[in-house]
Amino acid sequence: MGEIAGNIEKIKESLPAGVSLIAVSKTRKPEEIMEAYNCGHRLFGENKVQELLVKKEVLPSDIQWHLIGHLQSNKVKLIAPFVSMIESVDSIRLLELINQEAKKAGRQIDVLLQIHIATEETKFGFDFSEVETINWAAISASMTNVRIRGLMGMASFSSNEQMVRREFRKLKSLFVSFREHYLRNIDYFSEISMGMSGDWPIAVEEGSTMIRVGSAIFGQRKYS
Ligand SMILES: *Cc1c(COP(=O)(O)O)cnc(C)c1O
Repeated sequence: MGEIAGNIEKIKESLPAGVSLIAVSKTRKPEEIMEAYNCGHRLFGENKVQELLVKKEVLPSDIQWHLIGHLQSNKVKLIAPFVSMIESVDSIRLLELINQEAKKAGRQIDVLLQIHIATEETKFGFDFSEVETINWAAISASMTNVRIRGLMGMASFSSNEQMVRREFRKLKSLFVSFREHYLRNIDYFSEISMGMSGDWPIAVEEGSTMIRVGSAIFGQRKYS
C-alpha cells in the first residue's frame, strides 16, 4: 500500500461510525488523488473553483467533490452542474445564487453554512451575532434547490488545545440551536464539518460528523 492510501486507512480506522473523511486535495496532482481513489476513497475537497474544474476533467466521474473555500458569486454557475456539496456558504446572497444556479442545472445542491469560530480575523463565515438575526426557517423553505445540511467551521491555527476545543464547542452549540430553534424538524440538517490535519481528533471528540484532512493524508503542501 502506498503512503497516501495508508494514511487514509489509518484515519478511517480511528473515526467513529457516522463521521466522514473529506480528503482535501488542493495543490495535489491527479496522480496523488488517484492513489486515494484506488483505495476506494471518493470524497474530496478543493478550495478553488478553477483548480477543481481542471481536476474534475481528468479524474473519474464518481468522485464526490466538496467545495471548501470561499466561493465568488460569478463562479457558482461553473460548479453547480456537478458539485456534491458546497461547505463554504458565507452569505445569504450566495445561498440565493446557488439556489438559482442549481435550479438551472436541474439539481438540488447540499450546502453547509460556514461559521466564523476562530479568533483570527482572516477566516470567512457568518458571525454568531449575524446568525441570530436571520430567519432561517423562511429562507430554507424558500430555497427549492438547496438543502442546508449543517454547519462548517475552522478553528484557530494554534497549538492552544483548550482554545481550539472551545471554538469547536461553540460550533456544536450553535448546531444544537439550529436543530432546536432556527431549523427545527429538518432531518437532513445533520452535519458539522470541523477538524483538519492538526486538530481533527479534538473536533471528533466535540461532535464533528465530517473532517477535512489534507496534509495528514498527502504530506505537507508546497505552494508554488
Ligand atoms: C486546506 C484546508 C483544509 C485541510 O488542511 P490540512 O491542514 O492540510 O488538513 C481543511 N479545510 C479547509 C477549508 C481548507 O482550506
